[in-house]
Amino acid sequence: MPAPPRSEHPEPASYGEHSSVAGEAQAAAALTSPATGSEHAHPRPESARALATAESVRIDIAEACHRLAAAGLLIGTAGNASVRLDDACARAVTIGRGPAEEHPSDIATNERRSNGPDTDAGSVGRESGGTVDRECAGPIASPTPPCGGVVAITATGAVLAELTPEQVTLVDLDGTVIAGEFAPTSELQLHLGIYRTLPAKAIVHTHAPKSTAFGCVLDELPVLHYQQLVLGGETPVVPFHPFGTPELAAAVANSLSTGKQATLLANHGAVTLGATLNQAVENALLLEWACALYLDAATLGTPRPLTPEQQQAVIAIALTTGYGSTKPLAKEHE
Ligand SMILES: [Zn+2]
Repeated sequence: MPAPPRSEHPEPASYGEHSSVAGEAQAAAALTSPATGSEHAHPRPESARALATAESVRIDIAEACHRLAAAGLLIGTAGNASVRLDDACARAVTIGRGPAEEHPSDIATNERRSNGPDTDAGSVGRESGGTVDRECAGPIASPTPPCGGVVAITATGAVLAELTPEQVTLVDLDGTVIAGEFAPTSELQLHLGIYRTLPAKAIVHTHAPKSTAFGCVLDELPVLHYQQLVLGGETPVVPFHPFGTPELAAAVANSLSTGKQATLLANHGAVTLGATLNQAVENALLLEWACALYLDAATLGTPRPLTPEQQQAVIAIALTTGYGSTKPLAKEHE
């Protein structure tokens, strides 16, 4: 049996890895909507870094799609991926398209960046869980969106194995296009329905072969292997609804509301979440592996799921030993 595809230790968010100071002005210009950006052809310098972060997210989404396509999970134009922008980045993107006044939280954020070494775009991600969120709770000049209100998502009709950053469109939580040249995926509402109700930061939807096959027959993927605990245990199969419909979007969001990181769509495909885009991709790979495992096991007989007690025992050991992370050798081995 091949080893599970999941890396033992998920990598942290790396939205800033493509950013550079030299590229900020270009990124800011690229992200300013042609329809609304003429009055702000030169966004404030302090917004450029966050705009560059948004551009790096577009690059990350393109690379994630290339990876999933290479692994056989994304085929042709079938499937899509998205990332919810961090609050500071979302603010800057939106401010760049309208006459908003600078909010005190923008100033505070910029001051923090200038005071420490984390002045790359990656620092935006680390701030999103703390100070920035708190600041967003206060009054913010219109038309700044609510926290987490901007999503970068793949364009409809794009060949995902060849997706370019330009084929990633920025929308708000109502689906209004903020920046980009291409119409977003037809499953836009599926993504937005999750972002409106759950704290997910990234979503991957595939028509991966094994995941899709499973959802054509069965109603729930049981836990055959303890690695499935990463996905929240058993993976439900959402009843069939046509793609792009509010019924499908509601059913998917509801199936994920109990903390699941994955769900299968009957006679359609799969959806996975992540706190980072990398996690959502890894979860898609893990789900596909788990479905393949079930299908292989079923050729030998009736698959034997882990009992709740066995699952709890695994969790207890994992917590005790720190399973899933690297550890330095003891000194006597050095
Ligand atoms: Zn689909």
